[in-house]
Amino acid sequence: MIERIFVFILGGCVGSFLNVCIWRIPQNLSVVKPRSYCPHCHAMIGWYHNIPLVSYWFLRRRCKNCGQPIAFTYFLVELITAFLFLILYVQYGFGLEFFKFGFLFSLLIVMSVIDIKYHALPETLALSGIAAGILFSAGETYVVVHDRFFFSSGTLPIIESFEGLVFGLGCMYLFKLCGDLGIRYYLKIRKKESVEGETEALGLGDVDFLGMIGVFLGIHLTVVTFFAAPFFALVYVLWALCLRKSHVLPYVPYLSAAAFFSFLWGQKVLEFCNL
Ligand SMILES: [Zn+2]
Repeated sequence: MIERIFVFILGGCVGSFLNVCIWRIPQNLSVVKPRSYCPHCHAMIGWYHNIPLVSYWFLRRRCKNCGQPIAFTYFLVELITAFLFLILYVQYGFGLEFFKFGFLFSLLIVMSVIDIKYHALPETLALSGIAAGILFSAGETYVVVHDRFFFSSGTLPIIESFEGLVFGLGCMYLFKLCGDLGIRYYLKIRKKESVEGETEALGLGDVDFLGMIGVFLGIHLTVVTFFAAPFFALVYVLWALCLRKSHVLPYVPYLSAAAFFSFLWGQKVLEFCNL
């Protein structure tokens, strides 16, 4: 029990760091220096006002210095990360997988919130994710080769990662190509300009993103992610249609939710479909 509480607190601390990343990466600022400060008045935040999960409520959701409200997203990111770490710990203990998937899902949280806020993602994030995923796979491959005398090369983690990468990139690129053609054709026959400047179904960032998912989850779970994402997006689209909000949809949050779904239940879905 005590370990689980420790992992939950650890997740909260990592979530606090993810908030710093979400705020600073799109502005090209360092995520290490300077210490945390209020985005409104730039006053430095003391450690006792920066305790994950607790300080947000303790400070009554306002900056101690200028009284401006602190966004609920800060608390939400810390809470989600804390639960995520707990789930991973219960499933894997403190093994290589804990760190591998802890890294992946932390990155997904950062990318999702940035995509929701800016409708764009720095390319470096997915590319760094792909590089890190290959390193983790290389580590796992080393363990497999070292521990087992017989193994088939097709089941080596590094091979599965590269299969996932190629499938993720290729599949999403085809999807983008068809979508782009569809939009162009639609605008042509309706003889109208795009309302919000959209001529692309998906950004190239979404393509890299599914490649990254492929590296971490392998080809089968990436297929599940690809097909599950529209269902998660549909919920948002219906909500946006009802409230007549923008129909430009940040796709990364739904791909992320789908990836997490696939990570937890993808294998069951595949078995159910006899794949
Ligand atoms: Zn302030």
